[in-house]
Amino acid sequence: MKLYYHRLQIELTRRCNQECAHCCRGDAQDIDLTKEVVDCFFQNNTINHIGTLLFSGGEPTLNGQMLEYVVDSLITKNIPVEMFILGINGLSYNKDMVNGLNKLQDYIQAISNHKRRSTGLLIVSQDQFHKEANPEVLKQLQNLPYFVPVEKTITPQSHLLPYGRAVQNKLSIQEPNLEDLTNYQKNYKVKEDQESKYLILAYQYLAANGNVINDGNQSYDLMDQYALGNVKRQTVEEMYLQGPVRKLTKNVL
Ligand code: SF4
Repeated sequence: MKLYYHRLQIELTRRCNQECAHCCRGDAQDIDLTKEVVDCFFQNNTINHIGTLLFSGGEPTLNGQMLEYVVDSLITKNIPVEMFILGINGLSYNKDMVNGLNKLQDYIQAISNHKRRSTGLLIVSQDQFHKEANPEVLKQLQNLPYFVPVEKTITPQSHLLPYGRAVQNKLSIQEPNLEDLTNYQKNYKVKEDQESKYLILAYQYLAANGNVINDGNQSYDLMDQYALGNVKRQTVEEMYLQGPVRKLTKNVL
């Protein structure tokens, strides 16, 4: 069965060079996305389409070489991608990350019928919680066609996700919601045409450790606890159609 993603998010690392008080991930972990995880994902699954490809962390610039490896893998497999989004904190520059994004931009342009100047967004997070970005780094990024000019914003308390350090620091006013983590059935459909059968996924999160999760707006701990499976051991089709490897109960909070 072929996989058709509307949105696919790939976690490049769980390391970070900041400790933002509002971070929904919780404390950083010494885990990087590896070639083994990327190879398992692209070799054991037949991916037919990616609408929006999101890269996240942790801080993505700390594992830029794996962003480039992901991009090389999907180009080798000829997997169409419509656009990419990446958020970084602007403290460090990573040449491999920029090489990877440039390749991805060229690839999307080459397969797209509509020639656009930019086919992606590179955003630097700047608000009352993040440290100020390094001006030298911004100077190196500012001419990239997909770079979004930096604007310092104030994140309202109502927008803070109720997980990780936002909870420890009593910053979030939202109630935790495990619905999207557990109710994976509403995230996929199976469709068939004359040639193939497709597993159509509205969204999926691939964690650096290989876990596949139905909701990426969570802490690392909750995402691992509610993983549907791991690409080193199951195909994505098995995780969705045969069900998660363990029962997803909502009793953990
Ligand atoms: S919000 Fe981003 S930059 Fe801040 S600690 Fe969390 S992962 Fe790091």
